Amino acid sequence: LSTDSDVVKREAESMSRKSLRNNAEKFEFQAEVSRLMDILINSLYSNKDIFLREIISNASDALDKIRFLSLTDKEVLGEGDDTKLEIQIKLDKENKILTIRDRGVGMTKEELIKNLGTIAKSGTSAFMEKMQTRGDLNLIGQFGVGFYSVYLIADYVEVISKHNDEKQYVWESKADGAFAISEDTYNEPLGRGTEIRLHLKDEAGEYLEESKLKDLVRKYSEFINFPIYLWASKE
Ligand code: ADP
Ligand code: MG
Repeated sequence: LSTDSDVVKREAESMSRKSLRNNAEKFEFQAEVSRLMDILINSLYSNKDIFLREIISNASDALDKIRFLSLTDKEVLGEGDDTKLEIQIKLDKENKILTIRDRGVGMTKEELIKNLGTIAKSGTSAFMEKMQTRGDLNLIGQFGVGFYSVYLIADYVEVISKHNDEKQYVWESKADGAFAISEDTYNEPLGRGTEIRLHLKDEAGEYLEESKLKDLVRKYSEFINFPIYLWASKE
């Protein structure tokens, strides 16, 4: 039996979580991916804003996928909030967490493992080579590794995801060569979709400012066909 105060306690624990869940299955990143993450987490690159473009674009892709599936099978959209094809961004100043969630297609456990770490993408080494010669991180999305740009501004990332008819899983990593996957027993059920929680680096506090985020969302939402909502917690 879980009481309200248990739930509040659990949420507080999960919000401030800075170490990986100890009941999780651990995986090593594919070597090239690990090298890329190492470069990103230590990068002094000046235009770190681009992480938001990459995350919004992934959310939009996931929404496109579920919308496409719904053309032939209306049922896949589910009901209630699951039918709202939208992107939500939340600023949690107290815990220094920036959250981006979508009601897109979501990822199964296998997809989390495969898509976020273990399968080398052909673009990984091509991108690193390009960066060495031109140093332009801005191109990261074109090489199919845009997700990892979150490590420009976060030192700990949780990806909570739920695909239709599957359990809710958490992928988490501190970009130290490994990631962990576990069934999500901490958070409220998401419904379908993906929630990305970015635990910001100390020096990335600007991404908790509402005006900064508003400007970025305006800039990066230009070619996005889904509504994007922004919330800020009270200080
Ligand atoms: P790309 O978008 O070019 O494939 P990324 O590094 O940005 O490369 O993302 C890697 C993969 O992770 C995506 O192809 C997708 O399968 C998965 N993914 C990332 N974000 C989401 C999301 N919000 N919902 C569902 N799948 C996602
Ligand atoms: Mg992408």
